[in-house]
Amino acid sequence: MADYALTSIAIVALTLVMLVIWRRVTGPSSSVVRTAGRIALAVSLSLLVVGTGVYTLSKSRSLQTTGRLVRRVDTDRKLIALTFDDGPTPGRTEEVLSTLRTYEASATFYVTGQQSAQYPRQVREIIRAGDELGSHTYTHRKMYFIPDATVAEEIGRTDAVLRSAGYTGPITFRPPGCKRLLAAPLYLDRTGRTTVTWDLEPDSIPGIADDADAMVDYVVDNVRPGSIVLMHVMVDSRAASREALPRILQELSADGYTFVTVSDLLRSRRQSE
Ligand SMILES: [Zn+2]
Repeated sequence: MADYALTSIAIVALTLVMLVIWRRVTGPSSSVVRTAGRIALAVSLSLLVVGTGVYTLSKSRSLQTTGRLVRRVDTDRKLIALTFDDGPTPGRTEEVLSTLRTYEASATFYVTGQQSAQYPRQVREIIRAGDELGSHTYTHRKMYFIPDATVAEEIGRTDAVLRSAGYTGPITFRPPGCKRLLAAPLYLDRTGRTTVTWDLEPDSIPGIADDADAMVDYVVDNVRPGSIVLMHVMVDSRAASREALPRILQELSADGYTFVTVSDLLRSRRQSE
């Protein structure tokens, strides 16, 4: 309930500050009706300001209320972490793994617990290939304004499924829709988990998300050493993303980039610091 508490406290505090300033500037109101009007206006303004702030913060790629957040890594080495959200999905998983192997690339798969439980074979294929698994919650739930117990269940159940499939590597966290406010970051921090967002998201940008050529150009033009790229190649409807993937691998490999897991990218930062 930390998200509701944070939002309520912010609204009340901002309302009180506005009323105090108003009184200082214009003096006490002359009637009960005017006082009620002031309060109503202050509450309305607070709802608008706090609502906008909470919305912006909850989906921020680079800010989080607490805990460790990584959007990209500062490194001089030409390393990139490709990250694939959702899945695993039969057929798509094998196709993506095969493409990665062609270019001797590694990647991180942010899978949901539910689909991992449904398709354990594909989870084992990812493990066998030596790629990394990350948590994308159990039910792909947006991780804000939900009970603390639900936060723990979404994350804990997913970990349990990945571990029972034989995965022993690190599990970082990727919030669905990038949504979280205070309760989820508090839990992640308390349990020593890192939130991983991204600095490039070619198939989330309207206008280029359905165009493989445009996505390849976008990534090639904007990638930097230490970039974390989000794609949805495991989702059936994302044919353009799957078409773009081998070309991104080809062009950036030719440019000297190496594709590593998120954990390897994080380790490269520690070594370079
Ligand atoms: Zn997702």
